[in-house]
Amino acid sequence: MTRLVAGNWKMNGSLAANRELLDGLVSIPGVEIAVCVPYPYLAQAQQRPEGVALGAQDVSEYAAGAYTGEVSAAMLAEFGCRYAIVGHSERRALFGEEDATVGRKALAALQAGLVPIVCVGETLAERDEARAVEVIGRQLEAVREVLGAAAMGAVVLAYEPVWAIGTGRSASVAQVAEVHAAIRAWLKVHGVAAGGVRILYGGSVKADNAAALFAVEDVDGGLIGGASLVAADFLAICCAA
Ligand code: PGA
Repeated sequence: MTRLVAGNWKMNGSLAANRELLDGLVSIPGVEIAVCVPYPYLAQAQQRPEGVALGAQDVSEYAAGAYTGEVSAAMLAEFGCRYAIVGHSERRALFGEEDATVGRKALAALQAGLVPIVCVGETLAERDEARAVEVIGRQLEAVREVLGAAAMGAVVLAYEPVWAIGTGRSASVAQVAEVHAAIRAWLKVHGVAAGGVRILYGGSVKADNAAALFAVEDVDGGLIGGASLVAADFLAICCAA
């Protein structure tokens, strides 16, 4: 399984800063690299180094029509997107995105030929209550209900503990190992072709902890926020994968 390292730029960037960042990237043999850029910059990111895939950070669950402010999966495909992040914890927490909506967005992405990167993860309170695996199971089940087990085998999953995102406090190797194994087991139990699903880890991945996190069994790459905004840092993480 080729590893995937996807940069999630979030709501950062400018035409000038993006140019510098994109021009600083190179492809790395054996690792798939993607950049998930804000919608307005999809056009600019058409010019990027060969071997770097393009993605969006969200997608509408609707195909077309009177949905002011929404961007459809077909539009993203037209701009050469291969990936669309869905269900990022910031969208769940700040924009009221519910489990079922995440499932419908993943379906919309697949139907347009995109690969959804479906994010799951627990909050600190949920972890403290020892409910991490249960919460993630609920989030996965909502996606499976919409997609069905067969189509779910075509998504990328990203385990992103909410408390590790943007905090500088990555999950420990042991925590990542436990949750990734639990996700892989959940997929198997629920009839999803688990062996082909890439499970990324995200949450304060930096150049200095990436190698240890990527060495964990069942970790098939990373979803990188802050550290994806500097080409050298992002490439160092990609090299560790
Ligand atoms: P971070 O963000 O790497 O800045 O913690 C990860 C993410 O939100 O995808």
